[in-house]
Amino acid sequence: MQLTDSFGRTIDYLRVSLTDRCNLRCIYCMPEEGAPIAPKDTLLTDEELVRIMRIAVSLGMSKFRLTGGEPLVRPGVVKLTREIAALEGIQDLSLTTNAMLLGSLAGPLADAGMMRLNISLDTLKPERFQLLARRGNLQQVLDGIAASQKAGMQPIKINCVVMKGYNEDELVDFAKLSLDSPLHIRFIELMPINWSESTDTAAMQGFYSLSGASTGQNDRITLYADIKDNKLNEAFRLPALSDQKGMLNAVEMRRSFISMTEMRKAIESELGVLTPASLLTNGPAQTFHLQGGVGTVGFISQITQDMCKQCNRLRLTADGFLRPCLMADGEVDLRTPIREGASDEDIADLFRLTVHHKPLEHRLEDGLAPIGRNMSQLGG
Ligand code: SAM
Ligand code: SF4
Repeated sequence: MQLTDSFGRTIDYLRVSLTDRCNLRCIYCMPEEGAPIAPKDTLLTDEELVRIMRIAVSLGMSKFRLTGGEPLVRPGVVKLTREIAALEGIQDLSLTTNAMLLGSLAGPLADAGMMRLNISLDTLKPERFQLLARRGNLQQVLDGIAASQKAGMQPIKINCVVMKGYNEDELVDFAKLSLDSPLHIRFIELMPINWSESTDTAAMQGFYSLSGASTGQNDRITLYADIKDNKLNEAFRLPALSDQKGMLNAVEMRRSFISMTEMRKAIESELGVLTPASLLTNGPAQTFHLQGGVGTVGFISQITQDMCKQCNRLRLTADGFLRPCLMADGEVDLRTPIREGASDEDIADLFRLTVHHKPLEHRLEDGLAPIGRNMSQLGG
Protein backbone atom coordinates (compact mmCIF):
# COMPACT_ATOMS: atom_id res chain seq x y z
CA MET A 1 0.00 0.00 0.00
CA GLN A 2 1.27 3.46 -0.84
CA LEU A 3 0.15 6.93 0.26
CA THR A 4 -0.70 9.15 -2.69
CA ASP A 5 -1.82 12.75 -2.34
CA SER A 6 -4.56 14.59 -4.23
CA PHE A 7 -2.05 15.57 -6.92
CA GLY A 8 -0.72 12.08 -7.56
CA ARG A 9 2.51 12.42 -5.59
CA THR A 10 3.66 9.34 -3.73
CA ILE A 11 4.32 10.23 -0.08
CA ASP A 12 6.97 7.87 1.24
CA TYR A 13 9.22 10.07 3.36
CA LEU A 14 8.67 11.14 6.97
CA ARG A 15 10.82 13.68 8.81
CA VAL A 16 10.57 13.00 12.50
CA SER A 17 11.44 15.68 15.01
CA LEU A 18 12.80 14.06 18.17
CA THR A 19 12.78 17.26 20.21
CA ASP A 20 12.27 21.00 19.99
CA ARG A 21 15.25 21.55 22.31
CA CYS A 22 18.64 22.57 20.96
CA ASN A 23 22.16 23.22 22.21
CA LEU A 24 22.68 26.04 19.66
CA ARG A 25 20.69 29.18 18.87
CA CYS A 26 21.12 29.83 15.14
CA ILE A 27 20.01 33.35 14.31
CA TYR A 28 17.46 32.28 11.67
CA CYS A 29 15.96 29.48 13.72
CA MET A 30 15.70 30.29 17.43
CA PRO A 31 15.74 33.42 19.57
CA GLU A 32 18.83 33.75 21.75
CA GLU A 33 16.83 33.63 24.98
CA GLY A 34 13.32 32.44 25.69
CA ALA A 35 13.11 29.93 22.85
CA PRO A 36 9.66 28.36 22.62
CA ILE A 37 9.91 24.96 24.33
CA ALA A 38 7.00 22.57 24.61
CA PRO A 39 6.24 21.15 28.07
CA LYS A 40 7.94 17.77 28.48
CA ASP A 41 4.72 15.83 28.85
CA THR A 42 3.54 17.06 25.44
CA LEU A 43 6.52 15.51 23.66
CA LEU A 44 5.99 12.07 22.17
CA THR A 45 7.51 9.26 24.21
CA ASP A 46 9.86 6.74 22.58
CA GLU A 47 7.04 4.23 22.54
CA GLU A 48 4.62 6.65 20.85
CA LEU A 49 7.23 7.68 18.29
CA VAL A 50 8.11 4.13 17.33
CA ARG A 51 4.43 3.23 17.10
CA ILE A 52 3.72 6.14 14.75
CA MET A 53 6.70 5.20 12.62
CA ARG A 54 5.59 1.59 12.49
CA ILE A 55 2.17 2.75 11.25
CA ALA A 56 3.90 5.00 8.69
CA VAL A 57 5.88 1.99 7.42
CA SER A 58 2.66 -0.01 7.14
CA LEU A 59 1.36 2.78 4.87
CA GLY A 60 4.33 2.41 2.55
CA MET A 61 6.58 5.09 3.99
CA SER A 62 10.15 3.85 3.74
CA LYS A 63 12.44 6.86 4.19
CA PHE A 64 12.85 8.49 7.57
CA ARG A 65 14.98 11.36 8.77
CA LEU A 66 15.43 12.13 12.46
CA THR A 67 15.70 15.83 13.14
CA GLY A 68 14.67 18.52 15.61
CA GLY A 69 15.54 20.87 17.35
CA GLU A 70 18.78 19.08 17.88
CA PRO A 71 17.88 15.37 17.79
CA LEU A 72 21.01 14.31 19.64
CA VAL A 73 20.04 16.18 22.82
CA ARG A 74 17.09 13.81 23.25
CA PRO A 75 17.92 11.47 26.13
CA GLY A 76 18.31 7.88 24.96
CA VAL A 77 18.66 8.81 21.30
CA VAL A 78 20.91 5.83 20.51
CA LYS A 79 18.46 3.32 21.98
CA LEU A 80 15.60 5.01 20.14
CA THR A 81 17.57 4.90 16.89
CA ARG A 82 18.12 1.18 17.37
CA GLU A 83 14.38 0.60 17.86
CA ILE A 84 13.54 2.65 14.79
CA ALA A 85 16.20 0.99 12.63
CA ALA A 86 14.76 -2.39 13.59
CA LEU A 87 11.37 -1.57 12.01
CA GLU A 88 10.94 -3.78 9.00
CA GLY A 89 10.41 -1.84 5.79
CA ILE A 90 12.70 1.12 6.46
CA GLN A 91 14.95 1.56 3.46
CA ASP A 92 16.64 4.80 4.41
CA LEU A 93 17.29 6.16 7.90
CA SER A 94 19.15 9.41 8.22
CA LEU A 95 19.79 12.20 10.71
CA THR A 96 20.06 15.97 10.50
CA THR A 97 22.25 17.34 13.25
CA ASN A 98 24.42 20.29 14.20
CA ALA A 99 27.14 17.70 15.00
CA MET A 100 27.93 19.16 18.43
CA LEU A 101 27.44 15.76 20.07
CA LEU A 102 28.66 13.55 17.24
CA GLY A 103 32.17 13.24 18.65
CA SER A 104 30.88 10.71 21.17
CA LEU A 105 27.68 9.60 19.42
CA ALA A 106 28.70 8.98 15.79
CA GLY A 107 30.04 5.47 16.48
CA PRO A 108 27.12 4.33 18.69
CA LEU A 109 24.60 5.75 16.20
CA ALA A 110 26.22 3.93 13.29
CA ASP A 111 26.13 0.71 15.36
CA ALA A 112 22.47 1.32 16.14
CA GLY A 113 21.60 1.46 12.43
CA MET A 114 21.86 5.11 11.44
CA MET A 115 22.78 5.07 7.77
CA ARG A 116 23.73 8.61 6.86
CA LEU A 117 23.98 12.15 8.11
CA ASN A 118 23.27 15.73 7.17
CA ILE A 119 25.36 18.09 9.24
CA SER A 120 24.45 21.77 9.49
CA LEU A 121 27.31 24.22 9.44
CA ASP A 122 27.11 27.84 8.32
CA THR A 123 30.66 29.03 8.81
CA LEU A 124 34.22 27.76 8.90
CA LYS A 125 35.38 30.73 11.01
CA PRO A 126 35.44 30.13 14.78
CA GLU A 127 34.54 33.69 15.76
CA ARG A 128 31.71 33.83 13.22
CA PHE A 129 30.34 30.57 14.60
CA GLN A 130 29.75 32.43 17.88
CA LEU A 131 27.83 35.11 16.00
CA LEU A 132 25.65 32.74 13.97
CA ALA A 133 25.09 29.82 16.33
CA ARG A 134 25.63 31.72 19.61
CA ARG A 135 26.42 28.59 21.63
CA GLY A 136 28.87 25.74 21.21
CA ASN A 137 31.99 26.04 19.11
CA LEU A 138 33.25 25.23 15.64
CA GLN A 139 35.95 22.80 16.72
CA GLN A 140 33.40 20.52 18.35
CA VAL A 141 31.43 20.43 15.08
CA LEU A 142 34.56 19.64 13.05
CA ASP A 143 35.41 16.87 15.51
CA GLY A 144 31.89 15.55 15.07
CA ILE A 145 32.29 15.47 11.28
CA ALA A 146 35.60 13.61 11.64
CA ALA A 147 34.01 11.10 14.03
CA SER A 148 31.18 10.45 11.57
CA GLN A 149 33.63 9.81 8.75
CA LYS A 150 35.53 7.44 11.01
CA ALA A 151 32.29 5.65 11.89
CA GLY A 152 31.81 4.98 8.18
CA MET A 153 28.57 6.87 7.71
CA GLN A 154 28.07 8.05 4.18
CA PRO A 155 27.26 10.07 2.32
CA ILE A 156 27.90 12.95 4.72
CA LYS A 157 26.19 16.12 3.58
CA ILE A 158 27.05 19.51 4.97
CA ASN A 159 24.07 21.89 4.94
CA CYS A 160 24.95 25.56 4.88
CA VAL A 161 22.28 28.28 5.02
CA VAL A 162 23.72 31.18 3.06
CA MET A 163 22.97 34.76 4.11
CA LYS A 164 24.10 38.02 2.60
CA GLY A 165 26.15 40.02 5.05
CA TYR A 166 26.70 36.99 7.30
CA ASN A 167 28.45 34.18 5.44
CA GLU A 168 28.08 34.57 1.68
CA ASP A 169 31.80 35.33 1.53
CA GLU A 170 32.42 31.68 2.55
CA LEU A 171 30.64 30.07 -0.42
CA VAL A 172 33.92 29.30 -2.14
CA ASP A 173 35.62 27.95 1.00
CA PHE A 174 32.70 25.61 1.62
CA ALA A 175 32.58 24.49 -2.02
CA LYS A 176 36.30 23.69 -1.88
CA LEU A 177 35.67 21.18 0.91
CA SER A 178 34.22 18.93 -1.79
CA LEU A 179 37.46 18.91 -3.78
CA ASP A 180 39.55 16.55 -1.67
CA SER A 181 37.12 14.71 0.56
CA PRO A 182 33.86 12.88 -0.12
CA LEU A 183 31.77 15.61 1.49
CA HIS A 184 28.60 16.83 -0.15
CA ILE A 185 28.12 20.53 0.42
CA ARG A 186 24.58 21.78 0.08
CA PHE A 187 23.84 25.47 0.09
CA ILE A 188 20.36 26.31 1.33
CA GLU A 189 18.30 29.38 0.57
CA LEU A 190 17.09 31.08 3.71
CA MET A 191 13.43 30.27 4.27
CA PRO A 192 10.92 32.62 5.86
CA ILE A 193 9.90 30.26 8.64
CA ASN A 194 8.26 32.17 11.45
CA TRP A 195 10.44 35.17 11.07
CA SER A 196 10.31 37.24 14.19
CA GLU A 197 7.61 39.88 14.24
CA SER A 198 9.74 42.26 16.26
CA THR A 199 9.83 44.62 13.27
CA ASP A 200 7.13 47.26 13.29
CA THR A 201 4.87 46.58 10.35
CA ALA A 202 5.27 50.12 8.99
CA ALA A 203 8.89 49.27 8.28
CA MET A 204 7.75 46.22 6.34
CA GLN A 205 5.39 48.17 4.07
CA GLY A 206 6.93 48.63 0.68
CA PHE A 207 9.74 46.24 1.47
CA TYR A 208 8.17 43.21 -0.06
CA SER A 209 10.47 42.94 -3.01
CA LEU A 210 13.30 40.52 -2.44
CA SER A 211 15.88 42.70 -4.05
CA GLY A 212 18.58 40.63 -5.66
CA ALA A 213 16.68 37.42 -5.16
CA SER A 214 15.14 37.07 -8.57
CA THR A 215 18.18 37.26 -10.76
CA GLY A 216 17.79 33.98 -12.62
CA GLN A 217 15.35 32.93 -15.31
CA ASN A 218 13.90 30.24 -13.12
CA ASP A 219 13.58 32.37 -10.05
CA ARG A 220 9.99 32.15 -9.04
CA ILE A 221 9.35 34.18 -5.95
CA THR A 222 9.72 37.89 -6.09
CA LEU A 223 7.23 38.99 -3.46
CA TYR A 224 6.24 38.13 0.03
CA ALA A 225 3.27 39.98 1.43
CA ASP A 226 2.50 40.85 5.02
CA ILE A 227 2.63 37.68 7.06
CA LYS A 228 -0.41 38.84 9.03
CA ASP A 229 -2.53 37.98 5.98
CA ASN A 230 -1.72 34.31 6.29
CA LYS A 231 -4.81 32.44 5.14
CA LEU A 232 -3.49 28.99 4.40
CA ASN A 233 -5.28 26.08 5.99
CA GLU A 234 -7.51 28.35 8.01
CA ALA A 235 -9.20 25.29 9.46
CA PHE A 236 -6.26 24.32 11.63
CA ARG A 237 -4.03 27.33 11.61
CA LEU A 238 -1.79 27.97 14.57
CA PRO A 239 -1.52 31.34 16.25
CA ALA A 240 1.62 33.32 15.44
CA LEU A 241 4.30 33.19 18.07
CA SER A 242 4.87 36.50 19.73
CA ASP A 243 7.92 38.69 19.35
CA GLN A 244 11.11 36.64 19.44
CA LYS A 245 14.04 38.84 20.22
CA GLY A 246 17.45 37.84 19.03
CA MET A 247 16.21 36.05 15.94
CA LEU A 248 16.39 37.47 12.43
CA ASN A 249 13.24 39.48 11.84
CA ALA A 250 11.26 39.70 8.62
CA VAL A 251 13.20 42.61 7.18
CA GLU A 252 16.59 41.15 8.10
CA MET A 253 15.61 37.83 6.52
CA ARG A 254 14.61 39.54 3.29
CA ARG A 255 17.75 41.62 3.22
CA SER A 256 20.04 38.67 3.80
CA PHE A 257 18.32 36.39 1.30
CA ILE A 258 20.54 35.14 -1.50
CA SER A 259 19.26 32.96 -4.33
CA MET A 260 20.74 29.77 -5.70
CA THR A 261 21.46 31.59 -8.97
CA GLU A 262 23.62 34.14 -7.17
CA MET A 263 25.37 31.48 -5.09
CA ARG A 264 26.19 29.42 -8.15
CA LYS A 265 27.53 32.44 -10.00
CA ALA A 266 29.80 33.36 -7.09
CA ILE A 267 31.22 29.82 -6.91
CA GLU A 268 31.68 29.40 -10.65
CA SER A 269 33.41 32.74 -11.02
CA GLU A 270 36.15 31.52 -8.66
CA LEU A 271 36.23 27.77 -9.11
CA GLY A 272 35.04 27.15 -12.66
CA VAL A 273 31.90 25.64 -14.15
CA LEU A 274 29.84 23.29 -12.00
CA THR A 275 28.89 20.17 -13.90
CA PRO A 276 25.72 18.23 -13.05
CA ALA A 277 26.31 15.25 -10.80
CA SER A 278 24.04 12.57 -9.48
CA LEU A 279 24.09 11.47 -5.90
CA LEU A 280 21.97 8.70 -4.52
CA THR A 281 19.75 10.13 -1.77
CA ASN A 282 19.79 13.44 -3.54
CA GLY A 283 16.46 14.66 -2.24
CA PRO A 284 15.46 18.04 -3.58
CA ALA A 285 19.02 19.34 -4.02
CA GLN A 286 20.39 20.17 -7.45
CA THR A 287 23.83 18.62 -7.38
CA PHE A 288 27.08 19.39 -9.19
CA HIS A 289 30.79 18.56 -9.27
CA LEU A 290 33.65 20.99 -9.21
CA GLN A 291 36.23 19.91 -11.72
CA GLY A 292 38.26 17.15 -10.08
CA GLY A 293 36.04 17.18 -6.99
CA VAL A 294 35.63 14.01 -4.93
CA GLY A 295 32.45 15.23 -3.29
CA THR A 296 29.63 17.36 -4.69
CA VAL A 297 28.19 20.85 -4.40
CA GLY A 298 24.42 21.18 -4.28
CA PHE A 299 21.73 23.78 -3.82
CA ILE A 300 18.41 23.59 -2.05
CA SER A 301 16.40 26.40 -3.51
CA GLN A 302 12.99 26.05 -1.99
CA ILE A 303 12.32 29.75 -2.48
CA THR A 304 13.42 30.53 -6.03
CA GLN A 305 12.87 27.18 -7.74
CA ASP A 306 9.74 25.12 -7.99
CA MET A 307 10.55 22.06 -5.89
CA CYS A 308 7.06 21.37 -4.59
CA LYS A 309 5.91 19.19 -7.48
CA GLN A 310 8.36 16.49 -6.47
CA CYS A 311 7.65 16.74 -2.74
CA ASN A 312 7.24 13.30 -1.20
CA ARG A 313 7.26 14.07 2.51
CA LEU A 314 5.34 14.69 5.69
CA ARG A 315 6.71 15.97 8.98
CA LEU A 316 6.02 14.76 12.49
CA THR A 317 6.65 17.38 15.17
CA ALA A 318 8.15 16.41 18.50
CA ASP A 319 4.82 17.15 20.18
CA GLY A 320 2.99 14.78 17.89
CA PHE A 321 1.50 16.80 15.03
CA LEU A 322 1.63 15.57 11.47
CA ARG A 323 2.34 18.35 9.02
CA PRO A 324 1.78 18.05 5.27
CA CYS A 325 3.88 21.06 4.24
CA LEU A 326 6.83 22.85 5.82
CA MET A 327 5.69 26.16 4.38
CA ALA A 328 2.06 26.04 5.50
CA ASP A 329 0.76 26.03 9.04
CA GLY A 330 -1.74 23.20 8.72
CA GLU A 331 -1.21 20.24 11.08
CA VAL A 332 -3.07 17.19 12.31
CA ASP A 333 -2.84 16.17 15.96
CA LEU A 334 -1.81 12.54 16.48
CA ARG A 335 -0.79 12.81 20.12
CA THR A 336 -4.24 13.43 21.59
CA PRO A 337 -5.94 10.52 19.81
CA ILE A 338 -3.02 8.25 20.67
CA ARG A 339 -3.29 9.15 24.36
CA GLU A 340 -7.05 8.65 24.18
CA GLY A 341 -6.64 5.08 22.95
CA ALA A 342 -6.86 5.38 19.16
CA SER A 343 -6.21 2.18 17.24
CA ASP A 344 -3.46 1.80 14.64
CA GLU A 345 -6.14 2.03 11.94
CA ASP A 346 -7.43 5.32 13.44
CA ILE A 347 -3.89 6.73 13.29
CA ALA A 348 -3.45 5.43 9.75
CA ASP A 349 -6.64 7.33 8.84
CA LEU A 350 -5.10 10.51 10.26
CA PHE A 351 -2.07 9.94 8.01
CA ARG A 352 -4.43 9.64 5.04
CA LEU A 353 -6.25 12.81 6.08
CA THR A 354 -2.97 14.71 6.33
CA VAL A 355 -1.84 13.47 2.93
CA HIS A 356 -5.22 14.48 1.51
CA HIS A 357 -4.58 18.04 2.82
CA LYS A 358 -1.10 18.29 1.37
CA PRO A 359 -1.08 21.45 -0.76
CA LEU A 360 0.22 21.36 -4.30
CA GLU A 361 2.85 23.98 -3.53
CA HIS A 362 3.77 26.65 -1.04
CA ARG A 363 2.15 30.04 -1.44
CA LEU A 364 4.90 32.33 -0.23
CA GLU A 365 4.46 34.54 -3.25
CA ASP A 366 0.88 35.17 -2.13
CA GLY A 367 2.07 36.15 1.33
CA LEU A 368 1.15 32.86 2.93
CA ALA A 369 4.26 32.23 4.99
CA PRO A 370 4.14 29.85 7.96
CA ILE A 371 3.97 31.65 11.28
CA GLY A 372 2.97 29.09 13.87
CA ARG A 373 6.30 27.50 14.70
CA ASN A 374 10.02 28.05 14.38
CA MET A 375 12.07 25.64 12.28
CA SER A 376 13.37 24.16 15.54
CA GLN A 377 9.79 23.13 16.36
CA LEU A 378 9.00 21.85 12.90
CA GLY A 379 11.72 19.39 12.22
CA GLY A 380 13.58 21.16 9.44
N1 SAM B 1 19.50 21.01 14.78
C1 SAM B 1 19.69 20.23 13.63
C2 SAM B 1 20.53 20.96 12.61
O1 SAM B 1 20.69 22.18 12.72
O2 SAM B 1 21.01 20.29 11.70
C3 SAM B 1 18.40 19.75 12.98
C4 SAM B 1 17.25 20.70 12.93
S1 SAM B 1 17.51 22.18 11.97
C5 SAM B 1 15.96 22.99 12.21
C6 SAM B 1 17.44 21.52 10.35
C7 SAM B 1 17.97 22.41 9.26
O3 SAM B 1 17.10 23.51 9.09
C8 SAM B 1 19.36 22.99 9.49
O4 SAM B 1 20.18 22.66 8.40
C9 SAM B 1 19.12 24.48 9.54
O5 SAM B 1 20.21 25.20 9.03
C10 SAM B 1 17.88 24.61 8.68
N2 SAM B 1 17.12 25.84 8.94
C11 SAM B 1 16.62 26.29 10.11
N3 SAM B 1 15.94 27.45 9.93
C12 SAM B 1 16.04 27.74 8.60
C13 SAM B 1 15.56 28.80 7.77
N4 SAM B 1 14.84 29.79 8.26
N5 SAM B 1 15.85 28.76 6.45
C14 SAM B 1 16.58 27.74 5.92
N6 SAM B 1 17.05 26.71 6.64
C15 SAM B 1 16.78 26.71 7.96
FE1 SF4 C 1 19.41 24.32 16.66
FE2 SF4 C 1 19.42 23.30 14.22
FE3 SF4 C 1 17.89 25.44 14.79
FE4 SF4 C 1 20.51 25.72 14.72
S1 SF4 C 1 19.21 25.16 13.00
S2 SF4 C 1 19.13 26.48 16.34
S3 SF4 C 1 21.23 23.79 15.46
S4 SF4 C 1 17.65 23.41 15.61
